[in-house]
This record gives sequence, structure tokens and C-alpha cells, in this order.
Amino acid sequence: MPDLAVDGEVFTPSSPGYDAIRRPVNAAFQDVRPALVVRCRSVTDVVATVRYAAATGQRLVPRGGGHCFAGRSSTDGIVLDLSGLDGISMADNRISTIGAGARLAQVYAALHAHGRTLPAGCGPTVGIAGLTLGGGIGLLGRVYGLTCDRLAGAQVVLADGSVVDCDHEREPDLFWALRGAGGGQFGVVTSLRFDTVPEPVTTRIEARWSDVAVDELVAAWQDWAPDAPDEITVNLTLESEPGAPVRATLFGATTLAEAPARELLRGLTDRPCELRGDLPYPC
Ligand SMILES: Cc1cc2nc3c(=O)[nH]c(=O)nc-3n(C[C@H](O)[C@H](O)[C@H](O)COP(=O)(O)OP(=O)(O)OC[C@H]3O[C@@H](n4cnc5c(N)ncnc54)[C@H](O)[C@@H]3O)c2cc1C
Repeated sequence: MPDLAVDGEVFTPSSPGYDAIRRPVNAAFQDVRPALVVRCRSVTDVVATVRYAAATGQRLVPRGGGHCFAGRSSTDGIVLDLSGLDGISMADNRISTIGAGARLAQVYAALHAHGRTLPAGCGPTVGIAGLTLGGGIGLLGRVYGLTCDRLAGAQVVLADGSVVDCDHEREPDLFWALRGAGGGQFGVVTSLRFDTVPEPVTTRIEARWSDVAVDELVAAWQDWAPDAPDEITVNLTLESEPGAPVRATLFGATTLAEAPARELLRGLTDRPCELRGDLPYPC
């Protein structure tokens, strides 16, 4: 069997720390026991691990934030843990290169320092790579689109161990496929280059009702939501438990100031609505 030499760490089932590192976030997949977990520190580590997996015939899955609902970053083969590749840099106060192991909280904090952001998701520990490769929906999405719409380029290690940079001009088919087809399909992404957007000030919207007339609220929502302006993104959630009244929650954010936001929501319903303004995105 070939040797696996990396700058990072290799965990086998007998290594200290194996149980902590092998577990993804989703409890449904926490019993999966990989033969190896490789915590990469460099692109060279990724190449070495991809080649090792090919030479030994083992299944390899990349893992960013480990939040996959379908368990696709878990395997009994090799988990390629990219959490060590989480550097974030900014060029010309606009284009940010983000390591594939970065989590959303790190991304927002680093971009905030430049007054920039991305239309990405809400979960602070969700990985930027898994989110972007699957599309990425967030509170700024109605203004700026999906997270993958802001992707300007990526570095990818292919199945043969070669390293390619792709964008609209270089390897355009690969670049197209990285924007929404899902993670783990076409190679291991080691970094993503984003065209960031100015960070807006937002108004957080949160309203809760525990004894509302649900049919009236839903009818008002369906009348209001399709034509709501792009500057506002809200979800209406209804929760039902046996023997308890239906609970309704309106949650979201808007780049409008508090007063016009209140006015806009009055068009949805005149029931009392709790709003907080002037919060930095993603509030
Ligand atoms: C609490 C929570 C909140 C969420 N909020 C949002 C939200 O607001 N908006 C939204 O759009 N989605 C949201 N999601 C869904 C989330 O975006 C997806 O589950 C996403 O795939 C998670 O990415 P990850 O890197 O954390 O997960 P992982 O499990 O690490 O990876 C997900 C998939 O991508 C692959 N992958 C990971 N890294 C790489 C890489 N570097 N190269 C190639 N393939 C890779 C994995 O193999 C796997 O197939 C949320 C999920 C959770 C659990």
C-alpha cells in the first residue's frame, strides 16, 4: 500500500481525536466510521490524498462544514477534511478568495472588515464550499441572487490529482458545473473567488403569533408576498402540534429602513409586528 504523506493530520480509528473529527454535524450520520480522516493543511495535501485514494481504491469525500443533509460528506472510506484551508483574503476591496474550509461566520466577519459581504446563508457554521456548490440561498438573495451567482472562479483538484483554476474563460464547463450542481461531484474545490457586494445595513423582521387565524394570515401572505419588493426577504413558518394552537412566525430582513419596512408589512397584516432596525447584515 502506498504511503500517505501530508503536512496536515491523518486520523485512523485508533488515533486520539478520531471520534471528534469523524462526526459530521448531522446526527443521522454520526455513526459512520471512515477508514481515514485527513485534515489537510495545503493544496498539496489535497492532491496527495486524492492520489492515495485512487491508488488504494478507496472512496473519498470532501468535507467543508459537515452540514450535508444527505450525508454526502460521510463515508467508510476517506473523509478529506478541508477545515485547515480557511484563509480569506481581499483584492481591490471587491474580489475575495476564500479557502474551501471556511465557515459562514468567518466569511461574514472577514468581509465585514472591508464593508463587503456575500448573499449567502444564515447558519454560522455552514461551510462556504458546500453552500456555494449547491447554490446558496440567503437574505440578500432577492437583490443579489444565489451565492453561486457571485462566484468568479475556483481552484479545483481533479480526480487525477491535477490542479486547475477555472472561471468564465478557463475550464468554463467545470466552472459552470460548480455553480449549483452540488458538492463533491467534479473534484475537490480548494478555494473560491467571489465578487463581493457592499455590506448593507438591514432591518431584522421578526413577528410571532400564537393564536392567529391561520387561514386569514396565509391568505394575506399569498396576496402580499409575490409582489413584495426585492429589498425584503421573509419566511412565514407555521408550526402545528397536537392539542396546541398553530404558531406562526414571520422571519427575515430588509435593506429598507425601519419605518418603510413597518409600512410595507402593514400591507401584509395589521397585526402587531416586532421589528429591529440598523443591524449589520446578516443580522
Ligand atoms: C443549520 C443549517 C443552516 C443552513 N442554512 C442554509 C441557508 O441559509 N442557505 C442555504 O442555501 N443553505 C443552508 N443550509 C444548507 C447547506 O448550505 C448545505 O447543507 C451545504 O451543503 C452544507 O455545506 P457544508 O460545507 O457545511 O457541508 P458538507 O457536509 O461539508 O458538504 C456538503 C456537500 O458538499 C461537498 N463538499 C464540501 N466541501 C467541498 C469541496 N471543497 N469541494 C467539493 N465538494 C465539497 C461534500 O462532499 C458534500 O457532498 C443549511 C444547513 C444547515 C444544517
